Order: sequence, then C-alpha cells, then structure tokens
Amino acid sequence: MKNRRNIAVLGSTGSIGKQTLEVIESYPSLLSAEVLTAGSNAELLIEQAKKFNPNAVVIADESKYDLVFDALDALDIKVYAGEKAIAEVVEMESIDVVLTAMVGYSGLIPTLKAIEAGKTIALANKETMVVAGELVTKLAQEKGVNIYPVDSEHSAIFQCIVGDFHNKIEKIILTASGGPFRGKDRKFLSTVTKEQALKHPNWEMGAKITIDSASMMNKGLEVIEAKWLFGLQRNQIDVIVHPQSIIHSMVQFQDGSIKAQMGLPDMRLPIQYAITYPERLHTDFPRFNFINYPSLTFEQPDAKTFRNLALAYDALDRGGNIPCILNAANEIVVGEFLRDKIGFLEMSDVIEECMNKISFIKNPGIEDYIATDKETRIKAKEIIS
Ligand code: NDP
Ligand code: MG
Repeated sequence: MKNRRNIAVLGSTGSIGKQTLEVIESYPSLLSAEVLTAGSNAELLIEQAKKFNPNAVVIADESKYDLVFDALDALDIKVYAGEKAIAEVVEMESIDVVLTAMVGYSGLIPTLKAIEAGKTIALANKETMVVAGELVTKLAQEKGVNIYPVDSEHSAIFQCIVGDFHNKIEKIILTASGGPFRGKDRKFLSTVTKEQALKHPNWEMGAKITIDSASMMNKGLEVIEAKWLFGLQRNQIDVIVHPQSIIHSMVQFQDGSIKAQMGLPDMRLPIQYAITYPERLHTDFPRFNFINYPSLTFEQPDAKTFRNLALAYDALDRGGNIPCILNAANEIVVGEFLRDKIGFLEMSDVIEECMNKISFIKNPGIEDYIATDKETRIKAKEIIS
C-alpha cells in the first residue's frame, strides 16, 4: 500500500472492533487507529487508547466521560462523550476510512455523516443498510464514496466480482451456517433459552448478531444488505445453508459461471480486505486444508420454521419504511429475549405485527426513518408487555 490509512473504528470495544484493532496492530506502518468509539465500556476504551494512541476517543455513555478523560489526561488524545459526538468525530480531516462496527440502528447517523464528509466506509453495521439502504447508497453515489463490506458474505461477493465489475451478475448465493438450531422444529424452538441461542457453532460474535444468527434474522438482514450494496433485485438473491461456513458466498454470472470465495471462518480477513482494498496483505491466519473437510454440504433454508427469513424477503418486497420497521422490532425482541421476557418463536410474531401495524411510508426521508424507528420500538414493547 502506498499511503498509510488512518482508520476511525466505531464500536472498537465490540467483537468486530477488537478484531479490527488486531488487524491494525499487525501493520503499524500501513494502518493506524485515528479514532476509537465505544458505547459504555470505558475500561476497555481506555486500555485501547493507551495502546493505540488515537487522535480522539468517544464514549457514547456520557456518565463515563470523566472516567475516560481522567485516565487519558496525560496523553495527547481528545476525549468526547455522547452519541452526537460520534456523528461529529467522523468528519475529522485526518480520517481516511470509517469502519462502522457499532451494533444496530445507532450506526445510521454516524455512517451518513461520514459519507457526507467523503470518508471511505468499511461497513460492518449491516443494520444501517437495512434501515436506510436506498438513502445511504444514493448519498454515497452523490459523494463518490466507496462502501466496502466487512460482513463475511458480502466481502465474499465483493471478492468474487473484483475483476468482473463490467459483467452482469445473474444472481448471488448467500451462504448461511444455519446457526445452533439448524434442523430443529418449532416444538423444540418454543422452549429454547438464551444460553442455547448464544452458542454459535462457527463464529464468535456480539450477543445481538448471535441471536440473529440463531433466528435466521441475520441472513434476512444480509439479504437486504446485499440488495443495496450490489444493486440487486429480490429474485437475484438466494440463500443456501452451508453448515461448515467455508464457502462464504458465491456469485453466478450471466454465462452460468459461479465464483465462490472460501476460507476458514475468521472475520479478520474480511475486515482487513475492506480497509486495505485493493491490496491483499500477507497474514499468518491459519490456512484452509481441503483434506480436513472432505465434504462441504448444502441444504435449503427452512423458512417455515425460521420465519424471520421470509419476513425479511417480505420487507424487501414491500420496501419503503418496512425494512426499518423489521429492524427496529427485531432489536427490541432480541433485547427482550436476552432478558428472558419473550420466547424464541414469539420474536417473529412481534416483528410481523409491527410490520403490519406501523404506517407505511413509500419514499421515506431521514426524518421518516427516525420517526419509524421510534414508533416501532414503542409498538413492539407494547405488544410484548
Ligand atoms: P458487539 O456487541 O460485540 O459490539 C458493538 C459495539 O458497538 C461495541 O463497541 C459497543 O460499545 C458499541 N455500541 C453499542 N451500542 C452503542 C451506541 N448506542 N452508541 C455507540 N456505540 C454503541 O457487536 P459486534 O461487533 O458483534 O457487531 C457489530 C456490527 O457488526 C453489527 O452490526 C453486526 O451485525 C455486524 N457484524 C458482526 C459480525 C461479527 O462477527 N461479530 C460479523 C458481521 C457483521 P460497548 O461495548 O462499549 O458498549
Ligand atoms: Mg455475515
């Protein structure tokens, strides 16, 4: 890489954020952590700031400001607090790439601000694309900003189309591990606990996405994310269950040829590719050996048992603010499931009810998305209580 890249890591204290810092640490002459932001984990943010010496840090939880400020007082690091400050700090002149690894809807406004400021985006926060994919991609086009995917499936698709940008995609095939409940029926799912749902077979991730993976909502969100990232129609996006998680996704071109991107499941690879594109830098990550995987298998997803996937396709079809409703309702039900307030299968029922009851807006603007998100959260809580 010719020029050093200064990275703003939004959500540096999370699963993706920590792995991003591992990547940055491996290439000190090429990559640097320019900004770090956290939700409320002040201790880890302080530790990371001392190690990476960023230009600025932000803690969203304002009650932790003094703690972070005092701990970093002796260092030349700016300290800010509050969600608004995250949306402001992304505009900083010295930032080249903003890696969005916050969880949920909280990523939307900072991502829009970063695009407005002309920053390259490395997108992990898929919820931003689900909520407002049309707005986000339109703004990125206007500003000439590239959005590179971090999500492993979308990174795989991107890696398959590099060198084929001028060729038509017939369809993409998103692979899904199937999660911890693959093959289970609704009777089994009606009694599963959060402890069972939090055990993902192949990936170690934050709590929200782990539940989303168990409920197949993660794949639903990824279908919508893929539509906007790659400009596809619904009938061009297939999902297939591939329990070994070795093929990270595939692209089928109009001549019928299929390209797949493969490797051991390790998020550091897509993270690294998103921030160092078009280069592939040398890594010491373990290599995949075909002999250890004599059979790679594939199954049709069970959309009758796991209704979330069907709900996400439905949201995609209906468009407007419906994917925003799907996302907000999902964030509430996942939170309530993690608090043992709602059963695993009820999650889809609440989401569906919200999608049918919140007023439909055909061409939403940012204010409509903000209002829809708020209204849906209230509605979902009302349904649950
Ligand atoms: P985590 O829950 O591990 O981390 C979330 C990060 O966001 C933490 O740094 C957290 O801070 C911060 N955060 C939470 N709420 C807020 C808020 N209101 N304002 C500001 N910051 C906040 O999540 P993951 O790393 O697993 O996932 C991050 C995103 O990446 C998600 O959108 C997910 O879908 C996506 N993704 C994740 C993958 C994975 O392997 N983990 C794979 C593909 C995509 P703190 O902890 O300090 O409170
Ligand atoms: Mg994924």
